[in-house]
Amino acid sequence: MKKESFIVRRNFLKIAGLTAVLGPSLSFSSRQSIDNYGFRNNELQDINFKPVNVSPDRVIRTVVGLRPYRQSGFVLKSERLNDKTIIHNYGHGGAGMSLSWGTAKLAVDMALQRGETSFAVLGCGVIGLSTARLLQQKGFDVTIYAKDLPLNTTSNVSGALWGSGNFFVYNENQVGHEFLSQFDQATTISYRAFQDFVGINYGVSWIKHYNLGGFFNFAGSKIFYPGFKELQTSITDYSTIQQYNVMLIEPAIYLNALMNDFYVAGGSLKVRQFNSTQDLISLHENVIMNCTGMGSQKLFNDKELTPVKGQMSVLLPQSEINYSYVSPSSNNLLYMIPRKDGILLGGNAIAGDWSLEANDQENKRILDGHMKIAKTLGS
Ligand SMILES: Cc1cc2nc3c(=O)[nH]c(=O)nc-3n(C[C@H](O)[C@H](O)[C@H](O)COP(=O)(O)OP(=O)(O)OC[C@H]3O[C@@H](n4cnc5c(N)ncnc54)[C@H](O)[C@@H]3O)c2cc1C
Repeated sequence: MKKESFIVRRNFLKIAGLTAVLGPSLSFSSRQSIDNYGFRNNELQDINFKPVNVSPDRVIRTVVGLRPYRQSGFVLKSERLNDKTIIHNYGHGGAGMSLSWGTAKLAVDMALQRGETSFAVLGCGVIGLSTARLLQQKGFDVTIYAKDLPLNTTSNVSGALWGSGNFFVYNENQVGHEFLSQFDQATTISYRAFQDFVGINYGVSWIKHYNLGGFFNFAGSKIFYPGFKELQTSITDYSTIQQYNVMLIEPAIYLNALMNDFYVAGGSLKVRQFNSTQDLISLHENVIMNCTGMGSQKLFNDKELTPVKGQMSVLLPQSEINYSYVSPSSNNLLYMIPRKDGILLGGNAIAGDWSLEANDQENKRILDGHMKIAKTLGS
């Protein structure tokens, strides 16, 4: 695996050296906590981790997706192609769900400058759908052109926890001021926008999240992680745990709801693959929003765009699990996301791997790792 930073500027990992000692009980005591404002709280606190039931016979499927990663971050810019304007909005790595409304808004602002009323959107993942919806909300005609539709996009494979500081978003040594400004704007816009989708219709909800081991540095960005507390615990493996609230986006529900909104607003959709930029010239729209994710590597010859393969095992749903976690492990971070369609167990990121095949050894590593965590939190 290529050694690359998957650390964002504001949230960098400081993985503590953790020893594998089992915790004492289902709940643990916090000897001390530090709240949002830096005040120390010496009162004991208990957190009850309901145990995730991890075992191979509870696995209902394994999913694989490719995060569209660029070291210098996503591409959000306008360019000319003959008499067409192409507005690029792709390469969001492991945070495309989270950043979607933000980069869509910035892309649409660029598109408005062309004075057109009819737009083509390439791609029907979360980025294409959000971009299309914002254009419709301005009263424009929108046609989405895409080779794959939900349920068959990368977006459908995502977790998805809201967080612009997820795995593989950009390399902090490779980005400039312009990108960072776009990134900050997109994060802020998206964080606010997703709050309006909370509810069963869109499959967005707030849940408690735990960074077991307390490895994130949140300097400057706690505003996006409300209720942030750093807890000192009696669990030997995890003597520090960060707790905060996060939005969980259930992709199958959310993307279907966006598709529905798109149709209700009069959008049209054409299943079509574009093999080269020459194919785009035949489109009747003069402004083309490029939201093709990994597809931009071939279509627009973007050599920097790299797949970062992610594989997840999905367990039978457990409705009582109402928290998510991320834990360091010897090989990677392990994460658990409790969705209605199953409990997602992840912890796999392989840069440069285009394969969509699940790897049995990785499956075993992920399951074994989560079994150990379940034991630690639940014994
Ligand atoms: C395992 C995993 C876990 C993740 N977890 C999270 C998470 O917790 N939170 C988060 O925010 N993000 C997460 N992500 C990242 C997120 O899934 C991506 O950043 C996001 O889905 C990218 O969206 P997109 O619309 O750009 O791409 P896609 O969903 O891949 O959509 C691209 C669209 O373009 C179309 N297309 C491509 N090429 C062509 C072409 N040549 N012609 C026509 N159509 C074309 C495709 O058919 C598709 O419709 C995760 C990703 C993975 C793999």
